Order: sequence, then structure tokens, then C-alpha cells
Amino acid sequence: MADIKIVETKALKTKPDVSKIGFGTHFTDYMFVMDYDVEHGWHDARIVPHEKISIDPANATLHYGQAIFEGLKAYRQGNKAVLFRAKDHLQRLNRSAKILDIPEIPFDVAHEGLLKLIDMDKDWIPTDKGQSLYVRPFVFATDEVLGVSVSKRYKFMIILSPVAAYYAHGFAPVKILVEDQYVRAVRGGLGAAKTPANYAASLHAGLVAHNIGFDQVLWLDGVERKYIEEVGSMNILFKINGEIVSPSPQIQTSILDGITRRTVNQIAKAWGVPVSERRISIDEVIAAHDDGRLEEVFGSGTAAVISPVGVLRYKGKDYVIGDGKIGPFAQKMYDFIEGLHVGEVPDTFGFIEVAGQY
Ligand SMILES: *Cc1c(COP(=O)(O)O)cnc(C)c1O
Repeated sequence: MADIKIVETKALKTKPDVSKIGFGTHFTDYMFVMDYDVEHGWHDARIVPHEKISIDPANATLHYGQAIFEGLKAYRQGNKAVLFRAKDHLQRLNRSAKILDIPEIPFDVAHEGLLKLIDMDKDWIPTDKGQSLYVRPFVFATDEVLGVSVSKRYKFMIILSPVAAYYAHGFAPVKILVEDQYVRAVRGGLGAAKTPANYAASLHAGLVAHNIGFDQVLWLDGVERKYIEEVGSMNILFKINGEIVSPSPQIQTSILDGITRRTVNQIAKAWGVPVSERRISIDEVIAAHDDGRLEEVFGSGTAAVISPVGVLRYKGKDYVIGDGKIGPFAQKMYDFIEGLHVGEVPDTFGFIEVAGQY
């Protein structure tokens, strides 16, 4: 058992109507905090009321962005509060830590702290279909010096936010612009880490795409502008001639190794659907579209789970996928994963972890 101090809140907050609050706008009663310095290592793990923190204007993260984060979700299953693939998310946080030279978080303390935090805030987990309690662990540098160097002090926090169903108007396909001007990440860069810098690098292209009527951009590799990387801040998968094909983060190191993509591939294999993780070029996708082998395209990520793609625009030409409708595989996968979340589908994969009892 880790030594986690608990400070009770004086007054519980009023809970909002989750159907009206969108994503990440409201926060629960508690948060988990832990600090790092060279002398003590990671220390002082605690769960305290969610409150503002004070930061020096010279805080290293504000200037140089040495920070990482995770995003996962908690659900209700009958009288249990559960987390989906929490250990995988905490392990990925430590992989991101390595890339940014942030000292690794003690896994057991973070894991125990997360379970305890969910248990304390379990009444915040919404109950309606598609809603969840979004969990945001993050680590950032807390040195107060303007000299550029790896920070000697950090803070690790976990905050929780009840979120509305991602598809407010029902599960629906999106329009995607294949981005041939801007790049999100390049090999040798930070693409494999879940770090704010990759988001900063993607905002402008996303805005430009929005302004001309697209939901997201599809990122090509930064070197040849040829190989598919990701879509917005999701991974991307294709169904070509019956096979589920997705770019491999093992081969293309500028891609984030998404846990939802892994979930999709594991389930597909269990269903007997062939799965391939490899390089795939935009030319191959267009050729498959033109000769009728491109059956489906969809994004995967914790926020949306599955995001079917109805239209791809590349070099000014629109390619409609599956008549612009949701593909049967994407629909079946979405329903199955949503079923796992709420316990309607029995978890034979070991994805669900119980954090608390009502
Ligand atoms: C978080 C993230 C994803 C999706 O990862 P999941 O683990 O499936 O939520 C994909 N791409 C980027 C860039 C991300 O930051």
C-alpha cells in the first residue's frame, strides 16, 4: 500500500447536468497530486480538493513545454465504478516521460492513487449512455528558471471531469482533409509522446480545415508527405478488402501508440477479422477507393472511441467512403466497445478494472 494522504473537502460541489456540459468543462471534488525533486524523488502523494494551484511566471512548462498527459475514462457498471485499460494508460504516461526526460512516475503509487481518487469521486460518474468520467493524468515541469534545461522539479496530477456523450447528435461520419501542407510530428521528434507540443503543432491546421468545412485533418508523414500517420488527435484505421489496416507506431515513430487502436485490433482478431499494422500510403488508399476495395475508414481514440470517416479530400478531390455512411464494421466495433465500457458485453480481454463500489 502506498502512503497517500487524504484531505477531505469542506463542502461537496453541486453536480451539473452532464448532457449540457460538453467535454472537460466541469471538475469533480478531488484531485491527486504528487511532487518530484532531486532530493526526495517522487513524494508527498495526496488526494486533496480540486482547487487552483499557484505557479510562478517563470514556471518552466509555461516557457518550454516540458509536459506530458494521458486521457482515459471511468464508467458505472451496476454497483461498481470501473476504469477502462487504466494500467495501459499509466504505462504509456511513463513512455512519454522517457521521451521528454521526465523522471518516471512510481507506477504503483499512481495506480493506487487513481483507483482511490475514482472511488472518492464515484458519484460524479454519469449514468446515461455515452457519458463518462474523463480522467486526465498529467505531469509538468515546475522549475522556476528561464535558462533552457531539463527541469529538476515536477508535479504529477490527476483531475476528473464528467463528460457528455461525444456524439451529441448520434454516431455520425466526419469529413477529413488530407493535410499536405502542415505536419504534426516528424520521425526523431515527439510524435510518440502524448505531450502538449504535438497539440500546439496541430491547432492551426485544424482551424484552417474547420474554416473550409472539415472536421479534422489527416496527417501524412513529415518527410515524404506520403504515408498515413493519424487523423486529428486520433489513430486511423482502414478496412481494405476485408482486412483492418493501420499505420504501425512501431514502424512510424512519429505516431502516438493509441490504446483504442490496440483495443480495436485485439477485438477484430478475436472476431477472426484479419489485422495488419504496416506503412500505408495515401496513394494506396486512393487506389483502393478507386477500384472499390476501400470499404471503411475510421479514427480511434478515447474521447470519441470510433469516428467513422465519410469523406476524404486529397489535393482538391473528394473521395466518398461507403456512400458517406457509417460502415458496418465501425458500427459493430463501436457498439461492442461501448458495451464493454458499461458491462453489457462481458470483458474477456481484461480491459476493465474495478475502482469502487456503490
Ligand atoms: C491520445 C491520442 C491518440 C489516441 O490514443 P488513445 O489511447 O486511443 O486515446 C491518438 N493520437 C494522438 C496524437 C493522441 O494524443
